[in-house]
Amino acid sequence: MRILLVEDEPRAAQVLAKGLREQSYAVDVARDGDDALYQASITDYDAIVLDVMLPGIDGFTVCRELRAQGSHVPVLMLTARDAVDARITGLDSGADDYLVKPFDFGELLARLRAVIRRGQAPQRPSDVTLGDLRIDLRARHVTRGRDRLALTTREFALLEFLVLHEGEVVGRGEIAEHVWDTAFESMSNVIDVMIQRLRRKIDPPTGPSFIVTRRGEGYMLVRPDGGGGG
Ligand code: CA
Repeated sequence: MRILLVEDEPRAAQVLAKGLREQSYAVDVARDGDDALYQASITDYDAIVLDVMLPGIDGFTVCRELRAQGSHVPVLMLTARDAVDARITGLDSGADDYLVKPFDFGELLARLRAVIRRGQAPQRPSDVTLGDLRIDLRARHVTRGRDRLALTTREFALLEFLVLHEGEVVGRGEIAEHVWDTAFESMSNVIDVMIQRLRRKIDPPTGPSFIVTRRGEGYMLVRPDGGGGG
């Protein structure tokens, strides 16, 4: 899940970005409205956390502009005061939800999950069965029978991304963009290493891997019984 965080105050941006990364989100930060619109135009975000009070164009205008451009990206707006008119303006501008500052970080996470879920409701399952594995996308853990597998948050984010693109080849660039938030050039080897670690943790003791390598293209998650033989 890749998030654009739009917040001009450096300290607040730093704390929020760190907290979100700890929850395995990939996070980009925009410092003002123009930067936010630019970044949203070049990257396909899973959600935007948008502060209202920004230098230059404010969060309301950013949100209105996104919707005018046809973007359906889920937007969680951060309003500075608990004023009814600010909330109404926020929702009228096309935000999916709002949170009043100061807020509890746990509440931000819950609302963020909710706007992402609502935005993707038709396609996105809450849990997925893969062979003898059960992947709970809401509680964010994986079990085999009664055993819970020890996946790191990043390994889970990688598995989640592959699961949501089951049967499609996903390139390393796409993986880097959605699971990490650093440039792809430095990431290729890191991705390959983490795929190996994930395979060791999730693959059945015998039989083919759930994750197929397509040389020169990327990786693809496949169902163990999908091939029909061989
Ligand atoms: Ca601000």
